[in-house]
Amino acid sequence: MKRHSMERKISLRLFFMGSVGLILTAIVCLIVFYRVFSLQLWRSLEQTTQQIAVSCSKLENKEQLSDFALSSLRLTLIDPQGEVLYDSQTAVAENHLSRPEIQAALASGEGKSQRHSATVGYQTYYYAVRLDDGSVLRVAQDAATLRSIFVGALPAVLLGCIFILVLSIVLSCFLTRDLIKPIHRMVDHLDDIRDKVPYTELEPLADAIHSDQILRANNEKIRREFTANISHELKTPLTSISGYAELIEAGLAKPEDVPGFATRIHTEASRMIALVNDILALSHLDSLRDKEPSELEFTECDLAQVAQSCSARLRVNAQRAFVSVSVDAAPAIVLGNRSMLDDLCQNLCDNAIRYNRPGGKVRITTGHTASGTPFLQVQDDGIGIPQDAQARIFERFYRVDKSRSKATGGTGLGLAIVKHIALNHKAQLELKSQPGNGTCITVAFPPLPSENPK
Ligand code: ADP
Repeated sequence: MKRHSMERKISLRLFFMGSVGLILTAIVCLIVFYRVFSLQLWRSLEQTTQQIAVSCSKLENKEQLSDFALSSLRLTLIDPQGEVLYDSQTAVAENHLSRPEIQAALASGEGKSQRHSATVGYQTYYYAVRLDDGSVLRVAQDAATLRSIFVGALPAVLLGCIFILVLSIVLSCFLTRDLIKPIHRMVDHLDDIRDKVPYTELEPLADAIHSDQILRANNEKIRREFTANISHELKTPLTSISGYAELIEAGLAKPEDVPGFATRIHTEASRMIALVNDILALSHLDSLRDKEPSELEFTECDLAQVAQSCSARLRVNAQRAFVSVSVDAAPAIVLGNRSMLDDLCQNLCDNAIRYNRPGGKVRITTGHTASGTPFLQVQDDGIGIPQDAQARIFERFYRVDKSRSKATGGTGLGLAIVKHIALNHKAQLELKSQPGNGTCITVAFPPLPSENPK
C-alpha cells in the first residue's frame, strides 16, 4: 500500500483551507465594499440633487446653474417634453425623454439610473427630480466600476494574499507538528502506551498495541520456559548415560552388569531420540501455524482409514500392556494432512493404552455427529485425569504423574502435538475424563466445504 506522510497531508489540507478561506474572504470583502460604496454614492447624489433643486427654483437664469456644477458633477435641466434647457457639459443635446431616470422623474417626481460612462472603467450614476414648474433637474456623477476598483486594488490584494499565504504555510506546518507531536510521544512510550494516548481516536490502536505486547511477552515467557524444560529433559538421560558409560570405562562395572548398563544406556538414548523427534515435530507444526489449507497441502482424508491403520500399528503395544483396542469407524471425510492426522490419532491412542490398566479397553470411533460434524474419538477406561489437571494436559511437558509418563516412554509433548495438529486443521478438542473411570478425547473437524449446509 502506498503510504503518505500524515504530517505533509495535514499541512497541505490546512494550507488549502487557509488559501480557500483567504480568497473567499477577499472576494466577499470586495463585493461588500463596493455595495456600501455605491449605496453611499446614491445617497449623496440624492441629497445634492435635492439641495440644487431647492436653489434652482429661486434662479432667474438657467445659466446660473453652472455655479453648482462642480468638477465631478454634471447638471442637466430638461423641460417636460424632454428638450434640454441647460447642460453643464455639452452645448447641444438630443431629446432626453427616453432616459429612464427622466421618465421616472416625470411620472413619480424622482428617478435614478446607472449607465456606462464615456470614460473607460467608470459608470455614471444619474439622479433626477421634477421641479415645481414641471421641468426635470438631473445630476450625474461618474464613479469607478466594481471591475476597475478590483483591477486597481489587485496589486495590493495580491501582495496581501502572498503575505497571508506564506504565513499560512508557516502556521500550517507549525500546527501540524503540534498535532503530530503527541503521537510521536506516544510511540516513544510504548511500555505505558495506554496512559499516553493523546486523542480518543487512537485508543483502539493503543489497546491493540498493548494486547500485542502482552501476547509477545507471554510468548517469550512460554518460549523461555520451553527451552529451559528441553534442557532439563535432555540433561537427565544424558547424565545417566554418561554415568553408566563412565562406570564401564573405569572398569568399575562387573562383567555381568555390563549388558544391563548397556540396556539402560540404550533406553535413555531412545528416550532422547523420542524427545528430539517430538520437539522437531512441534517446531515444524509451529512453523505451519497461520498458514492457509492450500499451503499445507491438505487433501481429502477419511478419518475411518486413519483410525484403522492406527489400531493396526498399535496392536503389539496394546497386547504388551494387556489392553484391547477396538475400532468403530464410519467414513468421515475431512480436509487435512494424512501424516499429521496419523500422528494425532497415534498420540491419543498411545496415551489411552499407556494410562490404562491390564484388561483395559480402548475404543476409536469416527463418523459424523448429529449436526453433521466429522469427528475422531479415542476413549479408554483407564486411570483418568484429575479435574484440576484437565486444563493443563495439553501444555508442553505437563504430566500428571511424571514417573508413570517416563516409565512408559512419554516425552510430555504428545498432547501438545495433538493440540497443534488440531489447530492447524481448525478442529476442536473436547476432553472428558474421570479419575478411575477413564478418558474420552474427541476431535471435531470442520465439515468439507461442499458438505456445508447452505
Ligand atoms: P506424556 O508423554 O507424558 O504422555 P502427553 O502430552 O501425551 O505426555 O500427556 C500429558 C499428560 O496427560 C500425561 O502425562 C498424563 O498424565 C495425562 N494423560 C494423557 N492422556 C491420558 C489418558 N488417556 N488417560 C489419563 N491420563 C492421560
